[in-house]
Amino acid sequence: MLAGKTGAVFGAANNHSLAWFIAEALDKAGARLAISCQGERFLPKLQKLASSGLQTEPLLIPCDVQDEAQIAGFFDRVAAAYSKLDFLVHSIAFAAREDLEGAFLQTSREGFRLAMEVSAYSLLAVSRAAVPLMGEGGSIITLTYLGSRRYVPHYNVMGVAKAALEATVRYLAGELGPQGIRANAISAGPVNTLSARGIRNFSSFLHSAAAKAPLQRNISGAEVGDAVLFLCSDLSRGITGEIIHVDAGYHISGT
Ligand code: NAP
Repeated sequence: MLAGKTGAVFGAANNHSLAWFIAEALDKAGARLAISCQGERFLPKLQKLASSGLQTEPLLIPCDVQDEAQIAGFFDRVAAAYSKLDFLVHSIAFAAREDLEGAFLQTSREGFRLAMEVSAYSLLAVSRAAVPLMGEGGSIITLTYLGSRRYVPHYNVMGVAKAALEATVRYLAGELGPQGIRANAISAGPVNTLSARGIRNFSSFLHSAAAKAPLQRNISGAEVGDAVLFLCSDLSRGITGEIIHVDAGYHISGT
């Protein structure tokens, strides 16, 4: 489905990361990938994972999205290796632990700024660097959560950041549509990852989501990977500005 296509995937920390499941799905479909992790310390583990789990060797490039120079460096290396980019996947979020544990009312100015910068603004920052490599046509995808639209206890400032992220998707879709570049988000149900475990009572999130979802179960990272594959492929060519739920139907539940 993606033979001859190239893509960048941001946000791989380990093999539990949604970014890793996404990379596996895109690689299996024939794409050549550049995968980013936040720091050098993740590289050896990712190299091992890539050599055992991916069919095409990816570029593995550390990139802290709070640093414009590192973002520019990432895309310089992508341009040198691939010369063009067909899709960009942003699978990054961060908030200070105290802002996910304490009362929302107590969110500090710095905690709010940090969550918004890493979890929402970074989509804009990496898209700005990716678009010149996309030319006429491309697909931008990010990862969001229902806490953007509903009160989810302990999701706190991350819910505010996800609301901003979803608005960013719509503005990117509107502005880049004339160039044939689409922007969409996957709103995933809870999956046990490093970031998810930072949310207080995450295991009870998992249980209540499975109990209330029409499909009566949690989702897997591979299901997120497949949905992103759809959004990267021509099968989704008529879809932009959309938030697609991959949550076993939880978002329609009235209970
Ligand atoms: P994850 O494995 O912890 O991935 C989050 C990634 O963000 C990590 O690789 C992390 O790197 C990276 N990151 C944080 N700050 C960064 C920075 N300044 N620069 C570059 N990278 C940075 O957790 P995940 O669950 O797969 O999260 C991926 C995305 O899915 C997030 O947007 C999350 O909100 C979203 N999502 C997750 C779930 C879920 O239940 N898991 C549900 C809905 C949406 P470090 O590890 O080095 O900090």
